[in-house]
Amino acid sequence: MIAATLTARDCAARTWDAVVIGAGPAGGVLAKCLADRRLSVLLVDSKSFPRAKVCGGCLNENSLAAINAAGLRPVVDALHPVPLTEFHLAAGRRSVRLPLPGGIAVSRWGMDAAFVQSAINAGAQFLPDTQAFVGDVTGDSRGVRLESSGGAVSIASRIVIAATGLSGRSVAHLPGFASSESPTSRIGVEATLDAFPADYHPGVIFMAAGRRGYVGLTRVEDGRLNVAAAVDAAAVRDAGSPGAACLAILEEAGFPASADMQQAEWRGTAKLTRSTSRQADTRLFLVGDAAGYVEPFTGEGMAWAMTGAVDLAPLVARACPGWSDEFVTAWEQRYRRLITRRQWVCRSLAVGLRRPRLVRAAVPILQRLPWLAQPIIRRLNHHDQHVATLSTR
Ligand SMILES: Cc1cc2nc3c(=O)[nH]c(=O)nc-3n(C[C@H](O)[C@H](O)[C@H](O)COP(=O)(O)OP(=O)(O)OC[C@H]3O[C@@H](n4cnc5c(N)ncnc54)[C@H](O)[C@@H]3O)c2cc1C
Repeated sequence: MIAATLTARDCAARTWDAVVIGAGPAGGVLAKCLADRRLSVLLVDSKSFPRAKVCGGCLNENSLAAINAAGLRPVVDALHPVPLTEFHLAAGRRSVRLPLPGGIAVSRWGMDAAFVQSAINAGAQFLPDTQAFVGDVTGDSRGVRLESSGGAVSIASRIVIAATGLSGRSVAHLPGFASSESPTSRIGVEATLDAFPADYHPGVIFMAAGRRGYVGLTRVEDGRLNVAAAVDAAAVRDAGSPGAACLAILEEAGFPASADMQQAEWRGTAKLTRSTSRQADTRLFLVGDAAGYVEPFTGEGMAWAMTGAVDLAPLVARACPGWSDEFVTAWEQRYRRLITRRQWVCRSLAVGLRRPRLVRAAVPILQRLPWLAQPIIRRLNHHDQHVATLSTR
């Protein structure tokens, strides 16, 4: 358990340079990068750490580039992540194995806590078990309301960053920041299994595509099997549980399934595809899923979150001593160039994965001509060269 480094009441005794709300990959990486720049940083999360999170835990080369740029690669390596080498896709009882080098699998339980600890080691303060809500601008700071079992306090910060993920509500009450979800979007579900069929060996992302969703299965560093899926909410209702819905998709695709899956502890998300019309306001920036998310989970979600965080750090450092409204435009333009532009690949894959007959037809073609998948894999793994140099700006 990572203990709080101060109390909520202590937080109110000063004006912070930066308050980062949410300690997922976006918030953890950003807090560490800002503390490295000698800013006074408060990282707040509604949960205690370590904590589980609905995610497949697969980091692609793009994610690793951001982790390197943040100086966090040794921290990830110390968790002994599983190197990924292959993508095994199945639909309608046909399957194909495609090479997928360069990525790793790691539990979010381990990684997010390690990033929080690194932010603390770099000088950030950490307040868990506390909900934060962004307040108004007064003079040269913005308010944040902290709510916990101990009561509520208001604090002030020169810059506030909402890194609150898909379902975070820290900015929803501000004009222009209510996120809109795609009505046809699927929901995310996840469980980590101790017992599972032996066919799911380490180093492979197994992906089963069915009519009502798709299920990804990957072994993580402690040997357990992470099962993460995007499914129709109606499929979960009809099947009676997330586990039963995933089991049906695995059976339809022809992947081994075990009844133990239904007994596991499943977690769920709100609808996955959503967007906000704004990513910044006076003394406020959004980053990671809080700024918008697109199905599916191809290793891109954490890449967007951490690339955004590494890219935002120098802007926050410049905005702290002297705010200008130009920072709002600067971040919204950067965000579009860096993240929104890349999301079309995932949008296209989500459309494809909704048509299992299309995937089933593609499987024998990919079996014969596996190189046809390479442009998509390259595109997903591709990282802008400048990400590697960001931490030095
Ligand atoms: C089923 C599924 C599988 C996925 N698989 C992968 C994968 O294999 N690889 C990949 O790269 N991506 C994957 N993703 C996407 C990935 O999980 C997200 O993109 C990533 O977690 C985004 O990070 P984040 O830091 O923006 O938000 P999060 O990781 O969601 O973190 C947000 C944090 O904010 C906290 N919070 C929220 N509201 C408040 C508040 N008001 N006050 C205080 N704290 C708050 C939460 O407790 C949480 O800790 C998957 C997603 C799903 C749904």
